[in-house]
Amino acid sequence: MILFATIKIRKKLRKICADIIYPIAEKPINNGVVVLDDNNTIVEISIREKFEDAELEILKGSLCPGFVNAHCHLELSHLKNKIEPHTGLVGFIQSLMQQRFAANEEQRLQAIADAETEMMSNGIVAVGDISNEKISITRKQKRNLFYHTFIEAVGLQPFIANKRFDEAIALKNEFAISDLKSSLAPHAPYSTSISLIQLISDFNQKNNFATTIHNQETEDEELFFENKTGNFLNFYAKLGLDISYFNAPQKTSLQTVIDAMPVQTNMLYVHNTFSHESDLQAIKQHSKNNFLCTCANANLFIENKLPDYNLWQKSGLKICMGTDSLASNFSLNMMEEIKTIQQHFPKLSLETLLKWATLNGAEFLGIENKFGSFEIGKQPSVVLLNDFSAKKIV
Ligand SMILES: [Zn+2]
Repeated sequence: MILFATIKIRKKLRKICADIIYPIAEKPINNGVVVLDDNNTIVEISIREKFEDAELEILKGSLCPGFVNAHCHLELSHLKNKIEPHTGLVGFIQSLMQQRFAANEEQRLQAIADAETEMMSNGIVAVGDISNEKISITRKQKRNLFYHTFIEAVGLQPFIANKRFDEAIALKNEFAISDLKSSLAPHAPYSTSISLIQLISDFNQKNNFATTIHNQETEDEELFFENKTGNFLNFYAKLGLDISYFNAPQKTSLQTVIDAMPVQTNMLYVHNTFSHESDLQAIKQHSKNNFLCTCANANLFIENKLPDYNLWQKSGLKICMGTDSLASNFSLNMMEEIKTIQQHFPKLSLETLLKWATLNGAEFLGIENKFGSFEIGKQPSVVLLNDFSAKKIV
């Protein structure tokens, strides 16, 4: 008979102290300490006075949990520095369509790998990533970061809704057989018919999946829905798209499509640069599961305009933050997004913006049990902030 003896091994704890700790779920702590076990699980949040200095790792700067990049397009990483800034959204989409497949597969995979490395080094731990193709699958399978992939569907003409839905499901199946989390997402009101949005919403609600849409990113979107004018008309004509069936609903794009949006599952409205207070109220009233997402540097890159964050805050909606893709941004770095927002809206505190960049995104993606805040039992990673540079240290 073999006797098993239980040997109690005292787990080695890391006790990291910094000038300020941002737990996110509670107020910042001066001279705070985050205590982690050897699985990097938070076991205590405390203050420096409670410890001997010799047992602490004492760092200059602030600590916050790992960032949640709520909106990215990893598969567009090879388009870094390839598209002219400030063209407006229609010009941007045209350049994107011309250059999207200009690089070969090897170059594109390398750009995806480099983009992921950048995100990892500057403290991003989880990503809500839009995909129209399967090229990011092999990188996501390495599980260096948490990914939720939004399989994007496009199709403005209502009669192609079923075809485009089936194509999106086929791509989703490619992610599923690779054991990657995904759901379906309509691209934008100006590119996706209400019939297709409804098919996607029904599918996601049936499966309890979160989803997202690009919303009110350009004034042309409003012109198209209000009175069928603006740059999208030229764009559709160049694509040879017959939109003679389309009658302007004479209300904003958001208010046109919102009834087809999910109510029971989490929904992220991205950009909202040209949203009016009434649009934000419509989002708020439609469902308690709705979130807003800002991609400030991409908004400046494409339209050279930021949303009115005062209106966003007034709406009471939870706000997330994303980097968008390297096609419309110089880096995939959440502190660069925070820096830009603070330059234009100095009254927004770092505490508030860090919440947008961490816990709110985690709640949207349904991963708040692990990520987004320093709370006992979570494994959110630890990021060291010094001025506006961020570095993942755990
Ligand atoms: Zn986007």
